[in-house]
Amino acid sequence: MKAFTTEALLVRQIAYGESDVIATFLTATHGKLGMVARGARRSSRRFQGVLEPLSTVRLTYEDRGRELCTLKEGRVTVPRTRIMEDLDALEAAGKALRFVRALCPPRTPEPDVMQGLTTLLDALQEGRPTQAELLRFSFALLTGVGYGLELSRCLRCGKPRPADRPAYVDPDKGGVVCASCGGGKFLLPVELLAEAERLALGEPVELSDLHIATLLRVAEEAIVAHAGVEA
Ligand SMILES: [Zn+2]
Repeated sequence: MKAFTTEALLVRQIAYGESDVIATFLTATHGKLGMVARGARRSSRRFQGVLEPLSTVRLTYEDRGRELCTLKEGRVTVPRTRIMEDLDALEAAGKALRFVRALCPPRTPEPDVMQGLTTLLDALQEGRPTQAELLRFSFALLTGVGYGLELSRCLRCGKPRPADRPAYVDPDKGGVVCASCGGGKFLLPVELLAEAERLALGEPVELSDLHIATLLRVAEEAIVAHAGVEA
């Protein structure tokens, strides 16, 4: 049996049995981990704030190599209570947590995803525009788990995407599919494709609300296709 101490973000918690809680965390050390918090519903003292979402927490857990680890203790290191008071921010955060839960494989360290999610939650806490931040995170998440959208060439025939023409993107397949190969659900103008490429590289890009909405749909559909979950 090994004990570990790590920074973590709660992605889900459900009641279990009479008094326990099963919590899923994205941890810095081992990626996504399920943990049982014994007695958490009887007394909240030992797990103070650790089982509330959105804050960065530092926790100690034991790992016996089973499906669930055992949460021993923890504390909040970065509280983000403002998100709770802002419905837009809360919805964006909730969506991001669902994406992480669905896309990140268990027991696989995902430092880029951890960093991306932390950045998103900090931005929401600061009151930055929610949809733009969620979009940035969604692209970073897809890249982080190896499902980055292919935007430079057709996924089917490999032909490079012409730089001066709109192109079809099929989120289910993971990127551009040229017209001769059947095209895709979204026909994106050149400007949007360029913005999507910059997002996929994690580069800063100024986006209009309309472009944010369109690219968010593309990213969400790609995430749902890979994870098989409701977004
Ligand atoms: Zn093609």
